[in-house]
Amino acid sequence: MSEEKNIHCSFCGRSKDEAEMMIAGVDAHICDRCVGQAGGILHAELGEKPQSNPLDVAAKPEFDFTPKQIKEHLDQYIIGQESAKRTLAVAVYNHYKRIGLVPLKDAPDVDKSNIVLVGNTGTGKTLMARTIAKLLNVPFTIVDATVLTEAGYVGEDVESILTRLLQAAEYDLSRAQVGIVFIDEIDKIARKGDNPSITRDVSGEGVQQGLLKLLEGSKVNVPPKGGRKHPDQKYIEVDTTNILFIAGGAFVGIEKKIGSRLNSATLGYSKDSRNHVDEDEVLSYITPSDLKSFGLIPELIGRMPIVTFMSPLDKKALRAILTLPKNALIKQYQHLFHMDDISLTFDDDVYDYIVGVAIDYGLGARGLRSVCEAILTDHMFDAPGLKEKELHINIEYAKAQIDRSSLRKIPA
Ligand code: ADP
Repeated sequence: MSEEKNIHCSFCGRSKDEAEMMIAGVDAHICDRCVGQAGGILHAELGEKPQSNPLDVAAKPEFDFTPKQIKEHLDQYIIGQESAKRTLAVAVYNHYKRIGLVPLKDAPDVDKSNIVLVGNTGTGKTLMARTIAKLLNVPFTIVDATVLTEAGYVGEDVESILTRLLQAAEYDLSRAQVGIVFIDEIDKIARKGDNPSITRDVSGEGVQQGLLKLLEGSKVNVPPKGGRKHPDQKYIEVDTTNILFIAGGAFVGIEKKIGSRLNSATLGYSKDSRNHVDEDEVLSYITPSDLKSFGLIPELIGRMPIVTFMSPLDKKALRAILTLPKNALIKQYQHLFHMDDISLTFDDDVYDYIVGVAIDYGLGARGLRSVCEAILTDHMFDAPGLKEKELHINIEYAKAQIDRSSLRKIPA
């Protein structure tokens, strides 16, 4: 400790205690202030801009898509979800157009368009956000809202979201500042109960309050290594103005709330069939106010003005997901076997069978993978040494594998 105290900046003589940070050289030290001053001299001498505009380097050259092109790209990977794709394509287009805007005199400030995706688990919410980030070539990170807590409590601070984005951007601040954050399970941080409770709601409303400042666009001090484990680390200031936040959640039971809102809105017209709303369609009438009745605070909803929905996946959609998208599951398995020089084929009814089991499993498209794994694991185990180079899966084999697997015990 005493040795630490004896460290002085070799340029200005400040002690370690007086400086925020001290960088060690071979046999000298330099404090943060002298680094700053030296940087300033360098820029002045070389005639460089002190810091390049992040938007010049990151967003502009890479963003050259129309909403139609974004949608067409999404179509290659995501089955169905037409409405969500269109809404997202426009929102993302506007967001990046807004960033790319040349700051014209008198041009109005265009508000940021953070997005909420409402839909059951396994309907493609994460896939949608990830696919867009990949297309735009911007850093992308997924955070689970349920692990977040208000600062000072056990769990992760909301700032950890930005730490992850920085990591995804390999600490390139300018890229991180135009990245996309997917906040999963936003519905799980709903306010507990309608009234403020006596005990602090540190993982519910507390987190929502914390998220506000990130979503609205502000300068946030972020610990680059994250967490509270490295108390000595120097904070990085991240400007969240141009970070696009996409939140996803299942909002179980929200259909009922939308339904009752629609019913009360059409009260007195109930005999008019034009006002009849199909149960399957209820979700398409979602508005931000429905999220409020679900326990998200109005300020947070206000900062995520675009709400769209992901439809539950029916048999037909699941069947398509299995075989059609660019990286469809079946194509992935065929590729894996191909690497062992084995050509993998299926009888058509096997696909229907896989879909049927996945539906029973109740995990949306995510169930498809578990079913495929159960059917193919034995073959994947043997594949590397296999002499037979053609592998065909028929319905008997698929059924036998599922019967042997733990999936048999799925709830009906
Ligand atoms: P969510 O975030 O809604 O819970 P995910 O996006 O994580 O669901 O989806 C899980 C997996 O299911 C994805 O990796 C993808 O393979 C598949 N999937 C889900 N929905 C779709 C869809 N609409 N089109 C194509 N694949 C999908």
